[in-house]
Amino acid sequence: MSENIYVIGNWKMNKHLNEVTDFCDKLNISLHDMFALDNSSNIEVGIAPAAIHLPQMSSASTFSLVAQNIAAEENGAYTGEISASMVAEYSRYVLVGHSERRMYFDETNEILVKKLMLAYKYNLIPIFCFGENLENREKGDYLYIIKQQLEKVIWPVFSSSDFLNQNLIIAYEPVWAIGTGKNASPEQISEVHDYVRDLLINNIENIKDSVPILYGGSCNSQNAKSILEQKNVNGLLIGGASLDVNHFTKIVQIAHGLY
Ligand code: PEP
Repeated sequence: MSENIYVIGNWKMNKHLNEVTDFCDKLNISLHDMFALDNSSNIEVGIAPAAIHLPQMSSASTFSLVAQNIAAEENGAYTGEISASMVAEYSRYVLVGHSERRMYFDETNEILVKKLMLAYKYNLIPIFCFGENLENREKGDYLYIIKQQLEKVIWPVFSSSDFLNQNLIIAYEPVWAIGTGKNASPEQISEVHDYVRDLLINNIENIKDSVPILYGGSCNSQNAKSILEQKNVNGLLIGGASLDVNHFTKIVQIAHGLY
């Protein structure tokens, strides 16, 4: 359904400037080599660095930039925050609703709605993350939890005519799979992605049928192929394995070989 396949790295709070420069130089060369003979490639590669590195990377990268966060307020007296309009000067995408932000920074659904609206106001494409925790998985109510997470944030935004047909990417990231080395199995991923695809199609008129649904949670070069082969998986959101440029490049190559 989605036309593009996304391979997005989330560096979280890692890497200093010298490491950033080295990574960008190497990834630029690899991407150039990989796509040199294939201008029609539909692979979208992105990296979400710490915000302080966005300006440097925007002038030195051939891949897309993703902000890890934006403030829930537009501007003003919010010490330490970075607004959507500031981020939009450098970045095309922004993560919204990552489970680490929900868990450690108390980001509620109300806050996420505000962030989504600000992202759209400043032409950022949100990558909205959702997913159940281990308890929900074990209790078996994970589809209900996922439905709630989408209904409480995506529905209110898209029910407004102001946001008709806006670009949106969503990422299923089961909390129990993030940073644990235990990825969800292709069957588990497929169940959720198929469910979410139906939910979007049947519930939101103003949303494009082609909303890409990414998977994130302990992806690496060993499991990328079997995950990407699932029907409603339109890309990967990669934490730990995106820190090493060779490992990340290998995953991009796998995606490129499949599509
Ligand atoms: C993430 O933080 O979005 C993530 C998927 O992390 P990891 O790949 O390390 O599980």
